[in-house]
Amino acid sequence: MRRLAIAGVVTTVAAWYITRRRRRRRKLPRLRTAIPGPKSQALITRLASHECPAITARRARRADALGAAATDPIVWASASGAIVVDADGNEFLDVTSGFGVANLGHAAPAVVAAARRMLDRPLVHAMGDAFADESRVELLEALASFLPGLPKGILGCSGADAVQAAIKTATLATGRAGVLAFGGGYHGLGHGALAATAYHAPSFRAPFEAQLGAHVTFSEFGGAVPSLRDVGCVIVEPIQGRGGIREPPAGWLEELRAKCDAEGALLVYDEVYSGFGRTGAWFAFEALGAPPPDLICLGKAMAGGFPISVCLGTRAAMDAWGASRGEALHTQTFLGNPLGCAMARASLRELRRVDAPALAERRGAELRALLAARGLGPVRGRGLMLAVDVPDPLRAMAGLLRRGVLALPVGEGADFALGLVPPLTIESDQLAFVADALAAEFPREAGPARELAVPEEDEVAGR
Ligand code: PLP
Repeated sequence: MRRLAIAGVVTTVAAWYITRRRRRRRKLPRLRTAIPGPKSQALITRLASHECPAITARRARRADALGAAATDPIVWASASGAIVVDADGNEFLDVTSGFGVANLGHAAPAVVAAARRMLDRPLVHAMGDAFADESRVELLEALASFLPGLPKGILGCSGADAVQAAIKTATLATGRAGVLAFGGGYHGLGHGALAATAYHAPSFRAPFEAQLGAHVTFSEFGGAVPSLRDVGCVIVEPIQGRGGIREPPAGWLEELRAKCDAEGALLVYDEVYSGFGRTGAWFAFEALGAPPPDLICLGKAMAGGFPISVCLGTRAAMDAWGASRGEALHTQTFLGNPLGCAMARASLRELRRVDAPALAERRGAELRALLAARGLGPVRGRGLMLAVDVPDPLRAMAGLLRRGVLALPVGEGADFALGLVPPLTIESDQLAFVADALAAEFPREAGPARELAVPEEDEVAGR
């Protein structure tokens, strides 16, 4: 019996040591195959047989369509911290945070532990508006502690869900169906959210234009604010994310707030991308010193990887949903999923523990300095929600992938740039690697790109 117990302890310690060593090792990129490797390519081929071509295959073909270098996707196998490992065992540094989700890094241990506890309980599903569980109570209380003026919320499964809940709430609260949205804004691709999305209109909107309703009008982001006579909902990203990391001119959000108050519309901030410390403040409107909204949409980094979102609002706005008349006015099968609520609760606790806004501020300043020292720029944005102007963002994306860095372009037209949105927990040597990779891709002197050494296993620091 005693021997068994000792063997158990030894196994646990060995597993802990191996996991720790593995985690330490994964600090800088390490490429074992050409990119994409043979296993990724084989998986993409299989995927293309059964997934609608609008999804992964379309991206794979985009490279040909745009005449850029081959950027066939890699297929992810695991991800932790700022490192993503693909099916061929290649390790990449992720400066996208997986679409802005991994503010704490991928698979943050505290978030994973919360998921494990829920799986062990087990409770993996509850029932939308019909039956809640305690993790939902705790999550909504925690969210309200971030934004005490917006103490009530509607949970959803995606950023688009949160946006659609905000539009419905504003409609009920004001009795007006009109929505004012802004050029370059991105709010998601479900019909309700897409109707208010102007970003990349020719590809996202054009095929569905006839289904998008005439209730939305668009105005210039940062421009003159039109009359809100028939408008119940003014929806805006305080700092546009996918639209190119764009800030409005100083005072513009104040003007929007004042106009909403004067003309009876609700002001909705879409902070699905910019929320939870990304900009150096908990929320972008705070980073800009702008007044609070009536409703705010949050998602992405909220749970560090579980698909969950929320629309939070003032008591008055949320109470406009009124008393029950028998049937739910709004629900979803997976609304308030216990696993997601527990992960989000743990994620919020961890974001506070690491002081996410301060981390973003510090690491953002570091990255700016590294880029400036290499003659790269200009850089725009706040905290670690940054974009750098490079001559050809699509080529940069493909080139960086082959150097072990995952990055995505943001913006369109004059705002087309390379997004730099890494986990807030990224380390200094990882930031230096990214800056070196960019400098190698776009050397200051014209000429062939410098080769950047991808470190061999033994050269990687921290082991
Ligand atoms: N709002 C903003 C500002 C976003 O950046 C996004 C996604 O990128 C969304 C909404 C839509 O979120 P989801 O893709 O989770 O529906």
